[in-house]
Amino acid sequence: MSILEKFAALNNRYDHLKQVGADPFAVKFDDIISCVEGVVNGKKTLLFGTNNYLGLTFDDEAKAESIEAIRRHGTGTTGSRIANGSYKGHQELERALADFYGHTHCMVFSTGYQANLGMISTLVGKDDHLFLDADSHASIYDGSRLGHAPVVRFRHNNPDDLAKRLRRMGDQPGDKLIVVEGIYSMLGDTAPLKEFVDVKREYGAYLMVDEAHSMGVLGEHGRGLAEREGVEDDVDFVVGTFSKSLASVGGFCVSSLEGFEILRLASRPYMFTASLPPAIISSTLSALRTLRAEPQRRTKLTANSRRFYTGLRAAGFHVGPECSPIVAVMVEQPEVAVMFWKRLLEEGMYLNLALPPATPNSSAFMRSSVSAAHTDEQIDFAVALMTRVGRELGLLPEENNVCAF
Ligand code: PMP
Repeated sequence: MSILEKFAALNNRYDHLKQVGADPFAVKFDDIISCVEGVVNGKKTLLFGTNNYLGLTFDDEAKAESIEAIRRHGTGTTGSRIANGSYKGHQELERALADFYGHTHCMVFSTGYQANLGMISTLVGKDDHLFLDADSHASIYDGSRLGHAPVVRFRHNNPDDLAKRLRRMGDQPGDKLIVVEGIYSMLGDTAPLKEFVDVKREYGAYLMVDEAHSMGVLGEHGRGLAEREGVEDDVDFVVGTFSKSLASVGGFCVSSLEGFEILRLASRPYMFTASLPPAIISSTLSALRTLRAEPQRRTKLTANSRRFYTGLRAAGFHVGPECSPIVAVMVEQPEVAVMFWKRLLEEGMYLNLALPPATPNSSAFMRSSVSAAHTDEQIDFAVALMTRVGRELGLLPEENNVCAF
């Protein structure tokens, strides 16, 4: 009996996937050619499974500044900021993010995952209360596990359910923290933020919004859902990541709450890990500048998202509830989803396969993400390919019966 025996069920499920001839967890890119093209199994492949929303991973300025940072400051910091000190770049990046959001404070973390872990586990303790949307990202759930606050889950995107649960608590002492996401990472739907703000106000709670997928995507200036909905003043903490629109790695939290800075000495995922290396800080700073200076990228991203979403819907696919750069195509049977994913990869299109149990409502679907760097031709190719393969697999009716709307 091995210590790994407990993974037998998981192993079986994985073996089953591999028997179908697909291993979505072992995709290997032989090469990455551009923001939206790679080589897989020797075949040039269109990338629709990244979070490269603004198409900045190959940005010339970001690359040049990153290389220069390595030349001047080396490849790594080799330690945490509280033990080994901050580099000028860490503070510069924190100031740039605080300035972008119009907040007074910012803490930068080594990943977006750690930003959620570090904030959620620290802001609320055993005498407080944490309210999480049921479809929260793993990093939000894991933050709740690392901390000690009792957790209340409310129905996804349902402010009434949240209000009901807050009402039930009566006047129990302790702080209340509500966590929601701007754009949800799997289905691409947005939170009804204005209603959540009403609830937060009524019950005197704090509100944190994870704008990981909405930063650079939503709002006139790209600050995310809170900007688009005009409720930024009511959001106490904005969490975000550098790994999507900003095309690097790392995470942050901004806030104007007085006393925020003490969290640097209380948040374990901030304190006990190495800080971001100079190359990452520089490329992130550069990408943030571009995000601010080039709103046309956001406009193009919105147009691309609409082209892809409406194209798939017109073809007869059951797409996610809202048009956003994350476009989910629902596939009822997981085996068909696996075949669909495999056929698309063979034909030169890569997207993400989402299988239960790690999905909302335990559904199977194909998750794609659109980039500002996609051309109209690439999007049309992707829609046509998905339509052809969808028909092949019986997911769509034959051509003559398609109802376009
Ligand atoms: N929050 C959300 C909503 C996410 O989707 C993700 C990652 N996909 C994260 C946080 C973690 O970000 P990172 O991958 O940059 O650590």
